[in-house]
Amino acid sequence: MALMTAADYTASLRDGRTVYYRGERVDDVTTHPVIGIAVEHATIDYRMADDAAERSLAVVDGPEGPYSRYYHIPRSADDLLRRSALIERATALGGTLVVLIKEIGTDALFALRLMAEHLDRTRGTAYLPRVERFHAYCRDRDLAVAVAQTDVKGDRSRGPAEQDHPDYYVRVVGEDEAGITLRGAKVHTSVSTNAHEIIVLPTRNLKPGEEAYAVACAVPANAPGLTMLASGYGGRKGTAFEQPVSSRHKMMETLTVFEDVKVPWDRVFLNGEVDAAGPLAKTFVEFHRFTAVSYKLPLVDLFVGAAHLMADYNGVLSAGHVRDKLAKLISYAQICRGMTREAARESKVMGGIAVPNAELINIAKLHFATGYHQALAWVQDIAGGLLVTGPSEEDLADTRLRELIDRYFGAAKGGAVDRLRLMNLIAEITASDFGGYQAVLAVHAEGSIEAEKMTIWRQHDIEPSIRYAKRLAGID
Ligand SMILES: Cc1cc2nc3c(=O)[nH]c(=O)nc-3n(C[C@H](O)[C@H](O)[C@H](O)COP(=O)(O)OP(=O)(O)OC[C@H]3O[C@@H](n4cnc5c(N)ncnc54)[C@H](O)[C@@H]3O)c2cc1C
Repeated sequence: MALMTAADYTASLRDGRTVYYRGERVDDVTTHPVIGIAVEHATIDYRMADDAAERSLAVVDGPEGPYSRYYHIPRSADDLLRRSALIERATALGGTLVVLIKEIGTDALFALRLMAEHLDRTRGTAYLPRVERFHAYCRDRDLAVAVAQTDVKGDRSRGPAEQDHPDYYVRVVGEDEAGITLRGAKVHTSVSTNAHEIIVLPTRNLKPGEEAYAVACAVPANAPGLTMLASGYGGRKGTAFEQPVSSRHKMMETLTVFEDVKVPWDRVFLNGEVDAAGPLAKTFVEFHRFTAVSYKLPLVDLFVGAAHLMADYNGVLSAGHVRDKLAKLISYAQICRGMTREAARESKVMGGIAVPNAELINIAKLHFATGYHQALAWVQDIAGGLLVTGPSEEDLADTRLRELIDRYFGAAKGGAVDRLRLMNLIAEITASDFGGYQAVLAVHAEGSIEAEKMTIWRQHDIEPSIRYAKRLAGID
């Protein structure tokens, strides 16, 4: 059992993986001008474990040695609260961008454990020992793990077996004594370019006839037949002045293509159990939405802090409408935080694992996702149009232009340059490539808004409210 250093982690990614960026094969993801930023961002995880001030949150000292807290199986509400605090802290260090190289992978491992235990108990399969071995393998090597769940899906109104192309959902195309052969593609796979392992999960409910699509397994990122097409979105290289967050922090998504990838049996965690595909997908998503709302917190805090500071710089802090918007921003952020914590406190222990309360976690995620664009609008409204019309860093380097900037961009407080710095930060999180990325992440990542509503609808115990309404109305 050994923790990796940031340098070990970076070196370990030079493993011959097949990654393309804007049409070109990437020989070394760690030195690539764009993917390299994602690699560096991911090192936050390893740096925290190495930092005396962060270690107690990031590392668990187990009987066999220290290991990353992400790999710690939550046994209680307190464990979930610690996990949430770690995710929040790492994201804060990541400039509002989640690190995710262990968060999402362990969400999948917890869900796989629960499903494997259920299948082994009810059907006599032998999945749990495989999941446990893989969990220990990743934990003991301190690995980074991506999750490829979302299929490309083709026509959304049709199931996997009804599509024009059989590979719109990842499927098993062969089996032999060594293992299974995997074909198809997953999309939007975060951190895959800089993970060691990729866990494949089903994305939806399946029915008889769709057995080939009921597959969960783990594949090394450099497996033969695995090709990753990295997203070109937001790859513009900026300066720390104009892009204070994205010049240093990035998460990379890929189209993750499996062209007859061989997976040994020991890494196969579901194979053909159609009725388990939906519940496994859902169990993963509930753990993952808990991760999600935990990592949203630094961003919503930033909305509050940046808007308040800008109102102060601009001399409008005491204006009634500004206070109204700030109060709503604070409420937005605090409801996200309160609901996240409550979902941990209201967790239930199942199969020895504390599972966050599904109803509360979906309410938190729905509140965050549906309120996001309104929150952006309040921040932009308070900041003013300079968000997109300000001078550039090059102008500041010129003595005469700097004088003009100092004179004309002064306001109530802060000085011209600090005001521009804050303006650039707000522009970056609300009105840039990175702001657009965060906005789409808010709506779609961890599942669509409709999926959240569906879960709330299904999870809520409506009977007590109906009984109460009936009693007050005098209905027998
Ligand atoms: C930045 C980012 C990172 C992500 N990271 C990961 C990751 O690491 N791993 C991973 O597996 N996934 C990841 N995702 C995927 C995410 O879970 C999906 O984007 C989300 O589930 C929505 O799927 P979709 O993008 O295919 O959109 P679609 O499913 O096409 O949804 C678009 C719209 O169509 C609606 N819709 C879709 N199907 C139906 C239907 N049958 N009936 C009615 N309405 C329907 C949806 O509700 C939505 O309104 C990521 C996404 C983003 C944006």
